[in-house]
Amino acid sequence: MAAKFLQSIPVPHHKNTQGFFPVRLTDVKSVTIPMSMHIGAPAKPVVKPGDHVKIGQLIGEPGGFVSAPVHASISGTVKKVEPMLLSNGGSCMAVTIESDGLNEFDENLKPPVLTDMDSFIQAVRDSGAVGLGGAGFPTSVKLKVDPDKVDYILINGAECEPYITSDSHTMIDNPDRMYAGLGALKRFYPKAHIIIGIENNKKKAIEVMRKYTDDVDNCDVVELPSSYPQGGEKVLIYNTTGRMVPEGKLPFDVGCIVLNATTLSFLGKYLLTGRPLTTKCVTIDGSAVKEPKNVIAYIGTSVRDVVELAGGLKCEPGKVLYGGPMMGLAMPDMDQPVLKNTNALLFFDEKDAKVPEPSACIHCGRCVDACPLKLMPTELEQACLARDVDRLKKLKINLCMECGSCAFVCPAKRNLVESHKLAKIIVREADTK
Ligand code: SF4
Ligand code: SF4
Repeated sequence: MAAKFLQSIPVPHHKNTQGFFPVRLTDVKSVTIPMSMHIGAPAKPVVKPGDHVKIGQLIGEPGGFVSAPVHASISGTVKKVEPMLLSNGGSCMAVTIESDGLNEFDENLKPPVLTDMDSFIQAVRDSGAVGLGGAGFPTSVKLKVDPDKVDYILINGAECEPYITSDSHTMIDNPDRMYAGLGALKRFYPKAHIIIGIENNKKKAIEVMRKYTDDVDNCDVVELPSSYPQGGEKVLIYNTTGRMVPEGKLPFDVGCIVLNATTLSFLGKYLLTGRPLTTKCVTIDGSAVKEPKNVIAYIGTSVRDVVELAGGLKCEPGKVLYGGPMMGLAMPDMDQPVLKNTNALLFFDEKDAKVPEPSACIHCGRCVDACPLKLMPTELEQACLARDVDRLKKLKINLCMECGSCAFVCPAKRNLVESHKLAKIIVREADTK
C-alpha cells in the first residue's frame, strides 16, 4: 500500500440503488448487438438475416489480435446485419435479432477445460470478456503476459463514480463467481499478490469479499477512501502498491494487471458454466428516472426498452449517459443499445442536464490541487487553445486520464476535460505527420 494516497476529491455519492437486488429484464422483443463493444478491431459478423440463433451462439468472430468475439444475447431470428452509428460518433456492423420468446441457450455450451496457460487465455478470449467497468479492453490480451513478471493483480471494486452500484452488487450477490475467477488467477499467476480494492463506503462488499477470500493465499481486500477517482487505473495502482505507471506505459510495465470486479466475476461464471458474455448488470438512475434500480439486461437491448422495463421515466430526459456523471458518455438517442461495458444508464431531467456557461479563468489553482496526477489543467487548456504541441508534451498531456476532477472543482466551469481530449488528438495528429 502507498504511504500516501494520491489526491482525490469528495463527490456526492448518490448510491440510491445500493442494497436492492437487481431485476432481470427478460421480456425483450429484439436486440441490436454492435460488433464493436471493445477497444481494437471490431468483430466480423458470422450470421446472416434469416439465421436462427440461440443464447451464447457466436455471431461475430474477433477481427484481430486486439479484439473480442460477440455472442447472441437472446434466441430468435437474425433480422438485420448492417452498419449502425455509435454514441462515440463512430460506426460498425451490428446484428439485430428478433426474439422467439423462448430464451433458449445454445446446447453446445460447456465449461472450458483448462490444461495450461494457452488454454486459459483461449477460454478468456472465447468468453467474449472485455473490461466491463467501462474501458472495454479485451481481457485475453491483458492477461496474455509472462506470469513471472506479474507482481500484482488488482481487482478494481472501487466504484468511485456517483450513482453506480452494479460492481458492488456483483461482488455481494455472486461471490462464488468471484471466487472461481480468483482460483484461475491463482493457478496461472501463482506469484502475483492479488488485491481487491473497494471504497470504504461499501461495507457489505468488503465484508463479503473478506469472507470469501479468507482461504485464498496472498490475497487481500484493501479499503480505499470514498473519494474520487479511486477506481482510476493509475490511481488504484499507486494507492494499493505504491507504483506509478509512467507516461506512455501500461500497468504491466510496472508489474501489474488490473481487472474490474465485474470482469472477474464474469470470468468465474464462464469457467463454471461455459456461458459467454450476453447479459450485463446495469444501474438505472438519475433525476428523470421513476424508480432507480439495478437491472440484468441482455446486451443489445435498447436503452429505451431497458428504462421502460425498469419502471419508466418521470419526464423527457435532457441528457442520457452511458456510465457515471464524471466520465460517462452522452448518447444521441435512446435507440442506442446496452453494451458489454455499460455499467450504468443515467437519465437526467432538463434542469440537471443544463451545462453551465464557462467564464474566464480566475487562476485560483483549484484544478491543479484536485488533479491526482499533479498535472496543470489550466496550462493544458491554454496550450490546447494555442495548439502548442511541444508545450502539451512538456505538460504531459498523455498522462491525463480524463477523470474530470479538475473540471468538477473549477468555479469558472471551464471545459477542461473537453480541451484535454482535444489536446490529445492534436498531439497524436502532429506525431502522425
Ligand atoms: S482530467 Fe486530467 S488534468 Fe483533469 S484532474 Fe483528471 S487527470 Fe488531471
Ligand atoms: S480551477 Fe478553473 S478558474 Fe481555477 S485555475 Fe483552474 S481553470 Fe482557472
